[in-house]
Amino acid sequence: MKTAEIAIVGGGVAGLVAAATLARQGLQPRLFEAAPELGGRAQTRIVDGFHFNQGPHALYVRGAFNAVLAELGVPVSGHRLRLDGAMATWGDVAHPLPTRPAAGRVAAPLNPAEGARLAEVLAQIGEGAAGDRGAPLRAFTEGLPGKVRMVIEALVRVSSYSHAPDEIDAKAALDQVRLSFGGVLYVDGGWRALIAGLAQAATSAGAVLRSEHRVLAIRREHHAWRLEFAGQAPQAFDAVILAASPTAARDLVADSRDIATAAQAARPLRMMGLDLGLANPEPGAEFALGMDAPTYLSLHSAVAELAPPGGGLLHLGRYLAPDEAPDPVHLRELERLADRLRPDWREALVHKQRLVGIQVAHDLPGWRTEGRRTPVIVADAPGLFLAGDWVGDAGMLSDAAAASAIGAAREASALLAGRAAET
Ligand SMILES: Cc1cc2nc3c(=O)[nH]c(=O)nc-3n(C[C@H](O)[C@H](O)[C@H](O)COP(=O)(O)OP(=O)(O)OC[C@H]3O[C@@H](n4cnc5c(N)ncnc54)[C@H](O)[C@@H]3O)c2cc1C
Repeated sequence: MKTAEIAIVGGGVAGLVAAATLARQGLQPRLFEAAPELGGRAQTRIVDGFHFNQGPHALYVRGAFNAVLAELGVPVSGHRLRLDGAMATWGDVAHPLPTRPAAGRVAAPLNPAEGARLAEVLAQIGEGAAGDRGAPLRAFTEGLPGKVRMVIEALVRVSSYSHAPDEIDAKAALDQVRLSFGGVLYVDGGWRALIAGLAQAATSAGAVLRSEHRVLAIRREHHAWRLEFAGQAPQAFDAVILAASPTAARDLVADSRDIATAAQAARPLRMMGLDLGLANPEPGAEFALGMDAPTYLSLHSAVAELAPPGGGLLHLGRYLAPDEAPDPVHLRELERLADRLRPDWREALVHKQRLVGIQVAHDLPGWRTEGRRTPVIVADAPGLFLAGDWVGDAGMLSDAAAASAIGAAREASALLAGRAAET
């Protein structure tokens, strides 16, 4: 069977970043996506003018994904989240969110000593000097006064989606909070706009993108990899970038022990999401974080174009701990949160999206591995490279997907260059 350079399996952020990067180097990668549409978890569903991302999606201004979008010339129409007026909920009471307390001004219910300690810790985080690699976040926060600890752990939750202070690496977690200090963007039209831009960048440079092409198996054949499809002839490639979930990767490459081990070890970050499309909502809370409960509320349409004229798109979320089972009770908790902070939401409701235990990222940077996730290079599968938010050491969420995709593209093109030099 004749080989055809590089295949990419999976058409989410990671697969598309890899495709566009390789195509810009003059290669012609072929990308296969199982679903009818590209985008994976970065898809956006449009209903009556409401743009529903798969839960709340914020693009980190200083993150790897935003950097690669700029590098590829993908336009980003986004607006910074405004934190003036942001709230912290303590039980049923909402206070101002104490993210960066100005000198002498303390956000209740912290007392002046707690406010001063919080200011010190936030400054330390901002300098990148907080938290040790190879230790859990809890080892850092347990030395803090109780309310300060709760604020810091809430900031880790909102910036990393991890509700696992005993598992996440302290340095990785606090570096993610530091990244959030650089600001986040809510994207006009939802993340589908980013996906469309990436697909355009990839195809205009020569990549071939195929949706509705589910890969059934990836098998090693001499120096090549053979991809098998439903109802189509198999195709062979010199290199493969596998940009799907850990469990899909394990099932596709049945004879890689390394991938099976990585899939088994992965600790997914999951959440319960309640996304509400509202008609003519009354003014109300635009952003609120739970301090003593792992909750999130944000009106993304306050800054980005995501709703029809006069409408609002409100995202609520409840972060799940690693072994916590999704429970309908969590969604009711979120409705009660909305009752308190946006009391008119039930009358204004037009569309509702529920996300039950959705995997936000397929792995967290754990402290036992000093924040490292599984590598791009698979030792027992030469020529096959991994990409996704569960791969590599850099960043989290879509930034990890983008960074590992660039790493995988680099390795795959180096492999081809090496083979070309041999012949
Ligand atoms: C609720 C929620 C909130 C989030 N918030 C943020 C945020 O605020 N900021 C942020 O940066 N990130 C956020 N994320 C994470 C971000 O969406 C993901 O990190 C990113 O989209 C992952 O991209 P990916 O390409 O690695 O994986 P995916 O998007 O999962 O793509 C994998 C693709 O592989 C395809 N596939 C699987 N098996 C096969 C097969 N056999 N053949 C062909 N194709 C296959 C799948 O259909 C899928 O399209 C959030 C995610 C969720 C769910």
